[in-house]
Parts: sequence; C-alpha cells; structure tokens
Amino acid sequence: MNVLVVNCGSSSLKYQLLDMTTETELAKGLFEKIGDQDAIFTHKRPNADKLERIEPILNHKEALRILLDILVDAEYGVIKSMDEIDAVGHRVVHGGEKFADSVLITPAVMEALEECCALAPLHNPPNIQGIEACQAIMPNVPQVGVFDTAFHQTMPKEAYMYALPYEYYEDYGIRRYGFHGTSHKYVAQRCAELMGKHMSDLRIITCHLGNGSSVSAIKGGRSIDTTMGFTPLSGLIMGTRTGDIDPAIVPFLMEKTGMTYEEIDRVMNKESGVLGISGVSNDFRVIEEAAANGNKRAQLALNMFHYKVRRVIGAFAAVMGGVDAIVFTAGIGENDDIIRSRIIEHFDYLDTTLDQKANKMHGEERIISTPESKVKVICIPTNEELAICRDTVEIVTKKMVEDTVKDVLGNN
Ligand code: ADP
Repeated sequence: MNVLVVNCGSSSLKYQLLDMTTETELAKGLFEKIGDQDAIFTHKRPNADKLERIEPILNHKEALRILLDILVDAEYGVIKSMDEIDAVGHRVVHGGEKFADSVLITPAVMEALEECCALAPLHNPPNIQGIEACQAIMPNVPQVGVFDTAFHQTMPKEAYMYALPYEYYEDYGIRRYGFHGTSHKYVAQRCAELMGKHMSDLRIITCHLGNGSSVSAIKGGRSIDTTMGFTPLSGLIMGTRTGDIDPAIVPFLMEKTGMTYEEIDRVMNKESGVLGISGVSNDFRVIEEAAANGNKRAQLALNMFHYKVRRVIGAFAAVMGGVDAIVFTAGIGENDDIIRSRIIEHFDYLDTTLDQKANKMHGEERIISTPESKVKVICIPTNEELAICRDTVEIVTKKMVEDTVKDVLGNN
C-alpha cells in the first residue's frame, strides 16, 4: 500500500510518499511561498538528483496538482499512475477534544474540523484546505486525519485545566491540549521496543527538542502531562517562542510600550526564546558557537534552555512517581550532544549517567546512558511521517474489512 503524507502550513505543503509494504520512502518534498509568483518547489527521491523549481503557485490545490504530476512524471516520477496512491494521511494540528485518535475523513469529520479552527486559526484552515484539495483531485482515495493533539487527550483533568473561571473551559474550550503528539507517541513506542518492554510497564519522559520544543510524561503508554498548552507557545523556551511566562507581563508590556496585542503576540512567537535572549540566532549550532567565543547572552540562552528542560524532567518524574527512560528527539534532541550532556549531568539523583561515546554518535536510535544506569537515556530520531502512514494504513485497512463484511452480509 502506498500512502501519501500531506502536511499543509499557511503557505507551505510538505509531502512524503511511502511504500508501506516495506515502510520505505519513495519520494518527499516541499512547496514554499504558496500564493506567491516565486513559490519554491523541491522534490527529492532516494539516491537521485533533486528537482527544484521556482514558479507561480496560486494555492494548495495547485501545489497538489503539480505534486501528483511529478509523482507520475517520466523523469522525476516514482509511480506509474495516480491509482498507485492508495490513501492520503493528513497532519492536522488541532483536534480539540473531538479527536483522541486518528480518523477517516468523512463529511461529519470535516464539520468537526471546521469547529476546531477557532482553537487554531493559523494552523487548521490550511490543513482543511489540503484535505479539500486532495478530495477534489483524488475523490476515490481514502483520506485520514492525524492530529498533533490527539495523543495528549488522555491527560487527567488536573493536568489539563487552567485555574481560570470554569466557564471559560466550557464556553471557549480553554485548557491545555499539548502538541507534537504524533512524535511523542512514536518515540515512546520505539523506546519501549528498544528496551524490550511494553509501554504499559514504563514511565517515559519524551523530550521533543526542535525549533518548537515540548516534553511529555508518558505513563503506561498514555500521555499524562505535557509542556505545551492551549497553544504551542507555552512550556519550554524555544527557538523564537517564550515558553511559559507570567501572563501579567502581557498587559504590563501593552501599557508600557503601547504595543497592540498583535504586536506582543508576534514578539512572543517570533522574537523571543533563545533568539530573544542571545540576540544571535534561533539555531542552537550558531548560539553554541557564539557561546564558545565568549558571547555571554548566548551562554545565558543555553543555560536557560538546559535549566527549563531539567526542571520539567524533575517535575514529570515526580508526577509519575519515578521514571524508567528519558528520550531525546527532534533537531536539537537528536543532534546536540552538548545539550543532552548538560541536561543529564544533573541527574545523579535519578541514578543515570551518560555514556559519552554513545552520546557523541549521530543519527541512529541508541541508548546513550551507561549499562549500569537505572534510568535509561535514549536518542530516537522522530519520524512523524511514518507514524502518520501507520495510522493511515490501520484505519484504511479496517475500513476495507468493514466494507467487505457489509458486502458479504448484504449479499446473503
Ligand atoms: P522543527 O520544529 O522546525 O521541526 P527541527 O526538529 O527540525 O525543527 O529542529 C530544528 C533545530 O534543530 C534547528 O533550529 C537547530 O537549532 C537544531 N539543530 C539541528 N541540527 C543541530 C545540530 N547538529 N546541533 C545542534 N542543533 C541542531
């Protein structure tokens, strides 16, 4: 079964085509600046030259048409006809409280997705556009929605409620939702497999540290707490996002600076985090170089980042009554041995020590704590596309079985 994964942002579309019989990647690529005259289209296949084109692309539907043409193209294609795409899996940012799992897209699901737009006005509308475009171009191909929030729907109420008047939760859905759920779930499953144990027997802390960062507490295979909240702005310090700050700072700043709410929102999302503190970059490689050259603000940004991650790991170990494994994933978590080292060096009290040789390796799944360590520390490259494809295959296969049973019963 070939599955196309589609991830639509407001002006971008990322895709990957996977052969799920062998779980191998056939092609992947990206459209950027959709809506512009000079939109950028990049298409890659394993072991082949990549294609890069700059051309006007009006909207997501046009991008999808270009994508499908390329997938069957004589020179750059990887399949003979569109019939070889058996299903499409869509990454959807916000499923609200309506979706605790991935779903087959139906008219009722589309309606519910529209309702979730109020919670993610920047993210969900492009996701919906992507689904609608696929439905228009491939009306007979089943589509599945996989939500960033779904895995965290198992959090207990004391973890997801904010101490605001209760009506705000009932009237506006204000609560912690959490994000990066597909990644946290995927690496937690791989962690259990690597440890040769069942998720149900483990307490895992997953650290997804990338441009956006979040940490989750996963007990018995269920997310019981996570650092991102009502939006992906909260929790850890990120590349350009504040993470948790005292909410009273917002009205204070509005009064002091005369900034509008929109301006403050931009500052908190785009100009803060390690970029705001260091004044150098949001990229940890650049900040680490600046710190090594004596830049004190760059060093402070790194120290603040380590500190917040350590603080959360300690808190999540406390709420789970202990921890069996700490997992690092995403751009920083997978690649930055200095950050991992700085976080874990303070965990003597958890009885864990890093194996520095394993820590310095790159790119592959591995245990990076010493064999004697009670708490295992593990590096696992995330693979959200594969996770989306697996859910898609499961849901589509189930539907096919149900349809067959219906047919058989109908004929009898
Ligand atoms: P996104 O949240 O955009 O998916 P990623 O998970 O790809 O982000 O992470 C991107 C970030 O990872 C970069 O901004 C950079 O800070 C960090 N990163 C990538 N490679 C390295 C590396 N070798 N060393 C340190 N940091 C890295």
